[in-house]
Order: sequence, then structure tokens, then C-alpha cells
Amino acid sequence: MARYRDPVCKFCRREGKKLFLKGTRCDTDKCAFNRRQTPPGETKRKFHKRESGYAIHLREKQKVKRIYGVLEHQFRHYFELATSKRGVTGEVLLQLLERRLDNVVYRLGFAPSRRAARQLVTHGHFLVNNHKIDIPSYLVKPGDLVSLKEKSQKLLGIVESLKVSREIPVWLSLDKANFKAEVKAIPNRENIPIDIREELIVELYSK
Ligand code: SF4
Repeated sequence: MARYRDPVCKFCRREGKKLFLKGTRCDTDKCAFNRRQTPPGETKRKFHKRESGYAIHLREKQKVKRIYGVLEHQFRHYFELATSKRGVTGEVLLQLLERRLDNVVYRLGFAPSRRAARQLVTHGHFLVNNHKIDIPSYLVKPGDLVSLKEKSQKLLGIVESLKVSREIPVWLSLDKANFKAEVKAIPNRENIPIDIREELIVELYSK
């Protein structure tokens, strides 16, 4: 399974904002973006430089890809899937990304970052409707029950992550004591807390 293996802090510098890709570290003084905000390869941020329309559209797409940790061909697949479904394409695209099992595990607080959540999923720690699912891109749907395997419930990383107070999205319900959750609905755009202009991505692919 293809995935990013390189250091991710440079993505925040490239996008000029914190993308919160490293979990709890992102909220500490160790955050690399707090120390240096120039894009990789540049020593000084070029405030005078105006980005072209294409560059603005491209950056928006890159941000979403990096936040969810998907590669270009996977992202393109999500876009094509979104265009084939009813609804506003940009919103449907984000809904598909939110429904990924690794994102759901992260949103539920079992892992401090999507990257860590992806690793937990690939290592087979989670069940969906009592079946082991080790595919991070698995799309959950309303009514699905996501649970942690019994023998994984003592894993220190998961226990520590669950101790951190995190707002659970309204489209998920978590039973923390029993390490399980239910998918209640497909998330609306307002339930997807990422600061992105998804219409720019649609325009980019429609050119
Ligand atoms: Fe970005 Fe987090 Fe790295 Fe800071 S620590 S630069 S927010 S990934």
C-alpha cells in the first residue's frame, strides 16, 4: 500500500499553515512550524509574490491530500467517485475522505494523528461490524459499528490517546468505556472541521 514516508512538517511550511499531521506534537513548542515558516527551499518568505490562479487552486488540493494522507492517484479516484454521486461535488469529496476508516479512528480519539490511526488499522486492531478490517481507505457507512479488538484495548498508545479530551463529531457516537463507536450519519460539510475551499479543487480538476 503506497503512502507518504517522508517527514511531514515540511508540508506545513509549504502550505504556510499548520496542518496538524503529527498529533500532540503539533500543539507543543516542538512544532517545526513555530520555529520556521518559510517554504522548503526558501530562506525568506516572499510576501510580495502573488500566486497565480492555478497555484491557488493547486495548493488547496495539496492541503487536502496532505491532511488526509492520500496520494495523487487515490485523490483523483475520490474526486471521480464524488462526481459520479449526487450532491455538491466538493462536499461529497470531503465526505468520502472523512468516511475513511483511518480518519474515523483518528476522529474518535483512538490515535493522535491520522498517520498513527492508519498504522493501527493496518496492524489489524480494529473491527467493523465485528469483522477485522485492516484497510485504512475502507469507507464506513451509517449504522456501522467500529470497535477495538479486545486484546488491543491495553495498548498504551491507544489508552493515552483516549485520555486526551477531544470533541467527537456529531456523526459518530463513541462508547469510550467499551472501545466502540457507531457511525450515525454521513457527515455534513459543517461537521467536517477543516479550513479548505473545496470548490477550488473542483475547479482545478474541471479545467
Ligand atoms: Fe505541522 Fe504538526 Fe509538524 Fe507542526 S508539528 S509543522 S503542525 S505536522
